[in-house]
Amino acid sequence: METTTLDIAKIRQDFPILKRQLHGRPLVYLDNAATSQTPQQVIDVIVDYYSRYNANIHRGVHTLSQEATEAYENARQTLQKHFNARKAHEIILTSGTTHSINLVASGFTSLLKKGDELLVSAMEHHSNIVPWQMLCERTGAILKVIPMNEEGELIMDTYHSLLNENTRLVFCNHVSNALGTINPIKEIIDAAHQAGAAVLIDGAQAAPHMIADVQALDVDFYTVSAHKVCGPTGMGMLYGKEEWLNKMPPYQGGGEMIAEVTFEKTTYADLPHKFEAGTPDICGGIAFGAAIDYMNAIGFEAIAAYENELLAYATEQLLSIEGMKIYGTAANKTSVISFNVEGIHPYDIGTLLDKMGIAVRTGHHCAQPIMDYYQIPGTVRASFCFYNTKEEVDALVAGVQRAMAMLQ
Ligand SMILES: *Cc1c(COP(=O)(O)O)cnc(C)c1O
Repeated sequence: METTTLDIAKIRQDFPILKRQLHGRPLVYLDNAATSQTPQQVIDVIVDYYSRYNANIHRGVHTLSQEATEAYENARQTLQKHFNARKAHEIILTSGTTHSINLVASGFTSLLKKGDELLVSAMEHHSNIVPWQMLCERTGAILKVIPMNEEGELIMDTYHSLLNENTRLVFCNHVSNALGTINPIKEIIDAAHQAGAAVLIDGAQAAPHMIADVQALDVDFYTVSAHKVCGPTGMGMLYGKEEWLNKMPPYQGGGEMIAEVTFEKTTYADLPHKFEAGTPDICGGIAFGAAIDYMNAIGFEAIAAYENELLAYATEQLLSIEGMKIYGTAANKTSVISFNVEGIHPYDIGTLLDKMGIAVRTGHHCAQPIMDYYQIPGTVRASFCFYNTKEEVDALVAGVQRAMAMLQ
């Protein structure tokens, strides 16, 4: 039995989808690193918005518009407090981590010159690689890679030796979505700053498990996707230090982001609106705030402690299977297990597990360079959330064994 202080049975009651049956079996949802499930408390906020005060924000004089604006700006303040940003306008609401990173990559176009160097970690999600490659094509900057080792940890000595007076930007995920590794981001940030470089940390995979204090980290940019923290899809945030957000030009032009428009000249709105062109996902922003409130009510310390328990148990149980190999064995990791069984394609295991009601991810997890490093086509990835149970771990282990018996 669990030794956690959390009442998991009660928490599970909050998530209507967990009552679902799949192929005649209870759903075992272990694809939380791809997207987390949504509690009734957040669903209610979404229904309430569309039922009671759906209206456009920031410009209406009427009551509904004012209510919607207030709720949207309250959500921004919830995020500001949660991540300890100095100012609410340092929180830019976006459609997610991908959008946030593209915004920064676009903003740096005019700030870089040929020969400038950018450092990317070897374990990034494609969304923290491709926008920078596109930036390099636009500017002539050079992308260099911070390598990793067999355990799935960054080789920090090499990182330090890569930093030099030409380094302008360093980007790295806080937690790897494919391996679960928690990267030493404070060390990465401090060393980059000493070299005069700015740092973007992709927090998409960290936010479900821990609270990043952007001031304590002194990070320049930090990105989050709402759908990985029990919130809706298509919503997220970019934290940016005010001085950087002021330096960067707007990302998109349109309504909401201007101060004054004439055909001769347009001036831009103040932060955060400068980076929020067009009508945003108003309901999504409000629901994002509600999701953060929901997770804080459970408590991130209790969440991390329980998920670590699940991780240790699942790792031990899976390793008892013959031919099992786990990728990502860093000492410091979150509740993500990427694995393969000798001689079996990950896709085949994933497909058979689905027939047993067990949802896992298979493939390269949008991190092909990691798969190339291990010289594999992909992995099966089981990722655990605070609403998962040891019984579900047992179902996964039994499911893998059954799949093996069918495939070998
Ligand atoms: C999910 C994820 C992303 C992409 O997030 P989107 O919500 O698809 O924009 C980027 N990086 C990491 C580490 C992720 O886990």
